[in-house]
Amino acid sequence: MTLKHLSDDVIQQYALEAGTEPGAQEHLQQCPACRAKMEMYRNMAAAFRELPAPSFSFDAHALVMARLQPAALRPARRIAGLVLYVALAALLLPAAAAFYLFRHDVAQLFSGAVSMLTGLAATTILTILVMQGLDMLQSYRKKIHKILQH
Ligand SMILES: [Zn+2]
Repeated sequence: MTLKHLSDDVIQQYALEAGTEPGAQEHLQQCPACRAKMEMYRNMAAAFRELPAPSFSFDAHALVMARLQPAALRPARRIAGLVLYVALAALLLPAAAAFYLFRHDVAQLFSGAVSMLTGLAATTILTILVMQGLDMLQSYRKKIHKILQH
């Protein structure tokens, strides 16, 4: 008989009939203390097996999802909308201010035969800028939509 008692790990393995430690089987046969421990672990394992599977008395999944979705999505949507409006304001306000400040020059652009070409160029540039702005807006909306879906 080995003088050293078996470790709890080894005793638990034998309690579950999965022990492989060399010499442990002999020790268990000869040592009442270790055998008693093994019996205790065996009874514990049997008691655990008889316990009903743990479960909530309510649908935890439904409750969590119901609370999670508005909290996760609403602030993100609100921030996305705010960023959009700030960006639009940042683009439109200087344009409007410039138009107001130089309104007489703008009016002159479209008057007179010589400046017809200049007016045409200004209109073209303005149209291109508006188109680019709309394109940016569309791609921004797509990106935000993608982000919010994940
Ligand atoms: Zn022992």
